[in-house]
Amino acid sequence: MKLIGLTGGIGSGKSTVAQLLASHGWEVVDADKIAREIVEPGQPALEELAAEFGQDILDCSGQLDRAVLAERAFATQESTSRLNAITHPRIAEITQQRFAAARAGGKKFCVYDMPLLVDKGQHKDMDEVIVVDVEPEERVRRLVASRGLKEADARARIGRQIPDSERLAAATFVIDNNGPRDALEAQVARVVKQIEAA
Ligand code: ADP
Repeated sequence: MKLIGLTGGIGSGKSTVAQLLASHGWEVVDADKIAREIVEPGQPALEELAAEFGQDILDCSGQLDRAVLAERAFATQESTSRLNAITHPRIAEITQQRFAAARAGGKKFCVYDMPLLVDKGQHKDMDEVIVVDVEPEERVRRLVASRGLKEADARARIGRQIPDSERLAAATFVIDNNGPRDALEAQVARVVKQIEAA
């Protein structure tokens, strides 16, 4: 099975590309989804986060209030590291289980949709690396318009990720998503064809 890392800065359109790759029959393992699963009520990571960042990161039904956690955990580089120290080992474990399940299920191509793939050096474990590339200013516009982020928050999140040039340097394929959505489909189809033929 070929493992294909999919990454890009926040707001670049990774999730949109992941859906397109899934429509070509490729398995998709979504790192953000796994990150949400490991903080569901009853999961040990949730208790550890509450001990670290305050019990009021939980709402009255014991669910994680992601906005409150984000406000605290993304406040500084240091607090972000504390968040990562709790969540990343569990995310890694589940991720390996999902890859193994795809392999056991006979999948030939498995996408690892991971925003921090290059930041964490995980691109080295991939057979191919697809980077979705969009100008930072356009990403800010999209994050504000469609995800309701405040502009300053969008800029701060982009600023905490590695520079686009570093991410692009790790790419074996680059998808340019500066244009309209329908321009994406043809690019994705081309990349799929090339990887499947390799
Ligand atoms: P990511 O997963 O990389 O953070 P998303 O796929 O969620 O990015 O895309 C960010 C936002 O931009 C979403 O609301 C998405 O619908 C929108 N979007 C994606 N591609 C385009 C595009 N080519 N033009 C306009 N909006 C887009």
